Amino acid sequence: MENMIDKRLKKLNSYPISPEGKYVLYCMEASQRISYNYALLFTIEKSNELRKPLVVIFNITDQYKHSNARYYKFMLEGIIELKRDFETLGIKFQVRKGDYVSGCIEFGKDSCLVVLDRNYLATQRKWRYEVANKLDTLVVEVDNDVVVPVELVSNKEEPYAYLIRNKIYPIMENFIHEFKLPDQKVKSSQFDLGEEFFFSDVNIFLNNLNIDKTVSTVNTFRGGYNEAVKLLDEFIFNKLSMYKEYRSDPTKNYQSNLSPYLHFGNISPVEIIHKILKNYPFEDENVQSFINELVVWRELARNFVYYNINYNKYEGIPEWAKKTLEEHKGDKREFLYTLQDFENAKTHDIYWNSAQKELLKTGKMHNYMRMYWAKKILEWTKDPKEAFDISCYLNDKYELDGRDPNGYTGISWCFGSFDRPFGERKVIGKIRYMSTKGLENKFDIKKYVEKYKNL
Ligand code: FAD
Repeated sequence: MENMIDKRLKKLNSYPISPEGKYVLYCMEASQRISYNYALLFTIEKSNELRKPLVVIFNITDQYKHSNARYYKFMLEGIIELKRDFETLGIKFQVRKGDYVSGCIEFGKDSCLVVLDRNYLATQRKWRYEVANKLDTLVVEVDNDVVVPVELVSNKEEPYAYLIRNKIYPIMENFIHEFKLPDQKVKSSQFDLGEEFFFSDVNIFLNNLNIDKTVSTVNTFRGGYNEAVKLLDEFIFNKLSMYKEYRSDPTKNYQSNLSPYLHFGNISPVEIIHKILKNYPFEDENVQSFINELVVWRELARNFVYYNINYNKYEGIPEWAKKTLEEHKGDKREFLYTLQDFENAKTHDIYWNSAQKELLKTGKMHNYMRMYWAKKILEWTKDPKEAFDISCYLNDKYELDGRDPNGYTGISWCFGSFDRPFGERKVIGKIRYMSTKGLENKFDIKKYVEKYKNL
């Protein structure tokens, strides 16, 4: 396993470890968990080696542009659980109010070594480089939230799922292992790091943050590792055997519902696969179908945001897709809507409105409807660039799993990325078309409308 951790490590500066530091620091951000957390494992190993206490800090800011009550509630439920679990392990877990960079620097100054978990998005990557540039102790980053580390899979943007699949499959098995944290030699729970920003009640926590409270909280999913494991067990024992057949049907509940937990790093994809393979053979068609989503598409999304600087912009889609959309920019749209119309589920299409209502109500739209949803935004907006921005805005604002590489990848797919040109149509040109009739022919879609009719 040690060898495998090495493959996940990247030095972000060239300073050596400072043996005179007071502790070894892990600044948790992307991987909000203990289980299958290789950054934590590495920090414990270093703390044991150096005989210094291990300290974990978590920065909470209310200044992040997407901060809202819906997803903060989910995140804080996980943090409250984590605090308890770290205490049980005898590890200091300090929650601090403030931004990531200043927190990592403030605590990093006194540490022997700073360990960070990787986040693949541009803003969060910039934060990490700022931390590494401002500290004069070693800063390392651990590629912690993928099965196969991004840079090991490929050193360039991969344009198709099958290409990245061919690179991931031959090495994937090397990264799927049982995970066990080593015993800590120096207990740190009593280590004094000054005043803390922590409330064991989630509502009090939320009230102490100046975030957007107009986006309502939802009770559909509760954050944290324990809930993620419950959903995983339910998936393995009650859904996986029919996953391939039913996952695309929005009237059925055969998806795992793990995306919010994966987004906040409450659970590792390695743990998910490891547990599935204890119960099912690798070759099983449902397992293959699930791996295709959880590993191939999810890690294609990490590759995309890592190597394409325009991943969250219209400019990031392939040239052929931009060309065809530009050629059809002047076409008359059958329906035209504003951001407000979309946001309030006020289009002529009851299926589209139901998908938007599912999102507003539950914080998680079904995968099949996400495709239909973004493709129709493209059809019913006067400009494809504006359509791209509206899709990102609504996805990031309301999806519990939003603000994630998967979201930018999914939206880009609806605009032609990772796909091929199809027969030319008005407005969308050669971009793959999805029809309302398709929904009616494939599913008992009225059932879906019924479920979300009351908002
Ligand atoms: P399951 O079917 O149980 O899949 C398991 C896991 O595999 C998911 O949790 C996810 O991590 C991964 N996965 C599944 N489908 C995809 C996919 N198409 N691309 C990449 N990874 C995938 N996913 C997000 O996590 N966040 C988003 O903001 C997001 N926005 C999307 C927007 C659009 C327009 C589209 C078309 C897709 C989007 N997706 C997004 C991908 C996908 O819809 C969700 O990951 C999936 O619906 C999550 O539900 P689940 O965990 O129950 O899925």
